[in-house]
Amino acid sequence: LLAWLLLVAGGLATAPVDAANDITGLRTSAENGRSRLVFDVDGPVSHQVFSLDDPERLVIDIKEVALKADLPSALPRSNLIKRVRSAPRNGNDLRVVLDLERDARAKSFVLRPEADYGHRLVVDVVKRGAAGAAPEGVNDEQPAEQAPAEPQDRVIAIDAGHGGRDPGASAHGTREKDIVLSVARRLNTLLEQTPGLRPVMTRNSDIYLPLRERIRRARKAKADLFVSIHADAFRDPDAEGSSVYALSTDGASSEAARRLAQRENSSDRVGGVSLQDKDEMVASVLLDLSQDATIEFSLKAGEYVLDELGEVNNLHKHSVQQAGFVVLKSPDIPSLLVETAFISNPQEARKLRSANHQYRLAKALRDGIRQYFENRAPRGSRSYAQNETASE
Ligand SMILES: [Zn+2]
Repeated sequence: LLAWLLLVAGGLATAPVDAANDITGLRTSAENGRSRLVFDVDGPVSHQVFSLDDPERLVIDIKEVALKADLPSALPRSNLIKRVRSAPRNGNDLRVVLDLERDARAKSFVLRPEADYGHRLVVDVVKRGAAGAAPEGVNDEQPAEQAPAEPQDRVIAIDAGHGGRDPGASAHGTREKDIVLSVARRLNTLLEQTPGLRPVMTRNSDIYLPLRERIRRARKAKADLFVSIHADAFRDPDAEGSSVYALSTDGASSEAARRLAQRENSSDRVGGVSLQDKDEMVASVLLDLSQDATIEFSLKAGEYVLDELGEVNNLHKHSVQQAGFVVLKSPDIPSLLVETAFISNPQEARKLRSANHQYRLAKALRDGIRQYFENRAPRGSRSYAQNETASE
């Protein structure tokens, strides 16, 4: 302990012998009582974050990584973080210590390369007392070595849209609420047969569920992914194809997406639930700092699902669309809304009624979901487990 303190105090930065990856930079931002630190890394890393008090500190231990960046100079102007220090430990590991101005908690997650960005480790520091769960801190300089988490089944909440007094879209003798329940049940069966994945259904009968209740059921099941299944309708009977939606917090990706979200959100109006108070609840939930990362994961999951749907059906849109769907507003569960096809299109309505096509749609959803979990990080890897812990 003393040796380590001395190392930190001395600011020694002895180059680790054979670290697997380099931290190449630190980007930071501070806003609304939150400071975000984004470590750029040239490969996947595993990490652990814990807090210490008296004085308040957050400790970020990163496995097998060498520091090739000047951390102190990247520190944001923040009323939360006083100072950043770092030192190698255990040979190849790095310990980063954030000295805090006040009691704060951290939420961390890793992001895989995307667009212009490489591997990233993101640490959000937020004043304690703000909404959301935080990893429990330990009151000890040397936290008990945590056993690597057992890979656990990923839980997928399958949400059959509408139900009960809310039939959803209907045309050509086909009701959305029936079709989507049927597809949801097939997806449930397929996921039950898929190792490593465990499905739960928000409804498995013809009942009405408010949108918020769907989210609540997914949270109760500790879902890692939420998939709401729908079938679209449009006045133009030629409109066709599948689409996949993720949440947007700042406007819809198109006018059509906005209208669709309004239509799907009106489910609560049918059920006699006032959207007004719901929106207030949603607004506060949206302040949660994890929402941005959740949307990023949702978009990723959506791409895999869209690719697979494209194998069994025409696509209405070739990229994941975004709009303000209430049912997708879990701050910490990546969530998708899938419009399987257009019930208003006679050919697609016929296909939607066929058991074979329902099975193919369900299988496409299952395959996309499986790929998302397989590619997010290798199963059973440390970073995977860390990642999951961070998002709870
Ligand atoms: Zn719908």
